[in-house]
Amino acid sequence: MRFDFYEPNTIGECIEMLTHFGLKTSLLAGGTDLLVKLRLRHIRPQAVISLGGIDELKKLERKSDGSLEIGAMKTLQEVESSNLLANEFDLVRQGAGCVSSIQVRNVATLGGNSCNASSSADTVPALIALGAEVQIVGPQGERHLVLEDFFAGPGETVLQKGEILTEFKLPAPSSHSGGTYKKYAIRGEVDISIVGVATRLTLDRNHKLQEVRIVLGGVAPTPIRVRRAEDMLVGQDPKEELFEEAAQLAAEESRPISDQRATAQYRREMVKVWTRYTLQETFQKIREAIKAR
Ligand SMILES: Cc1cc2nc3c(=O)[nH]c(=O)nc-3n(C[C@H](O)[C@H](O)[C@H](O)COP(=O)(O)OP(=O)(O)OC[C@H]3O[C@@H](n4cnc5c(N)ncnc54)[C@H](O)[C@@H]3O)c2cc1C
Repeated sequence: MRFDFYEPNTIGECIEMLTHFGLKTSLLAGGTDLLVKLRLRHIRPQAVISLGGIDELKKLERKSDGSLEIGAMKTLQEVESSNLLANEFDLVRQGAGCVSSIQVRNVATLGGNSCNASSSADTVPALIALGAEVQIVGPQGERHLVLEDFFAGPGETVLQKGEILTEFKLPAPSSHSGGTYKKYAIRGEVDISIVGVATRLTLDRNHKLQEVRIVLGGVAPTPIRVRRAEDMLVGQDPKEELFEEAAQLAAEESRPISDQRATAQYRREMVKVWTRYTLQETFQKIREAIKAR
């Protein structure tokens, strides 16, 4: 297959090229999803624009207010091994570390994992659980969205013509909070998730559950928050029976399909198991952190 290849050095140049070439263009980040689609002839672009030469997309910065900004072109390996992401933002490291092999993580990017819009993407539940916002830049300027609103369906995002995802913004975490991501796949990390669950808990000063996020991957057309389960836990004392109840609600809220990897029933059962496990694990981590202070 023949196509023209471009490598802009700035976001502005990239937007100009995208606007100029229109719909017959593909953006290339690490290429781990895109090259598969090209080889299988699922897409036939006339031009491919690489984001690899744009340094603005490679930042990783802790801001003075405690929030964190991660450029879309940070590789999953850089994310997983970054000390800036240790402790409060560890959930993203857990998600990134679950993606395939080191060879894939060395080139695959955080932005590509969201823009590919697979419901099973391993970094997305973790980012949503942390309250991530995305920055989108296009011909009309800049806009911001919470990541959970970025997905329009399987393989589809809300990106408009000429727009790119430039960075993720993670709000400053509260103290007494923690998170856990668990993926279930037949061949472990090298395989695509059958179910992925990220949970994040924040306790108030009386150690009641102040904020709860439970995000599921692989069990609906896009990654989803299970609000009934979250709401049921808020304001309560963290207890095993409650986590069990929340896990049941999460399974009821999931909308899995059957495919070659697992039946819908099996997926729903795994949502229950992983939700209960990740809630307990997260609570345990917070309790240990409080004790260690
Ligand atoms: C062997 C193998 C195993 C895998 N295992 C896993 C796994 O376990 N878990 C998992 O989650 N994923 C897995 N993947 C999928 C893939 O590695 C990830 O989705 C990866 O993060 C994609 O990033 P990339 O930089 O390679 O994206 P690319 O392939 O370069 O791009 C993906 C899509 O996003 C678009 N895009 C990329 N960046 C931007 C941007 N900044 N703005 C707008 N559009 C953009 C591209 O145009 C393309 O459509 C696997 C892939 C392979 C080949």
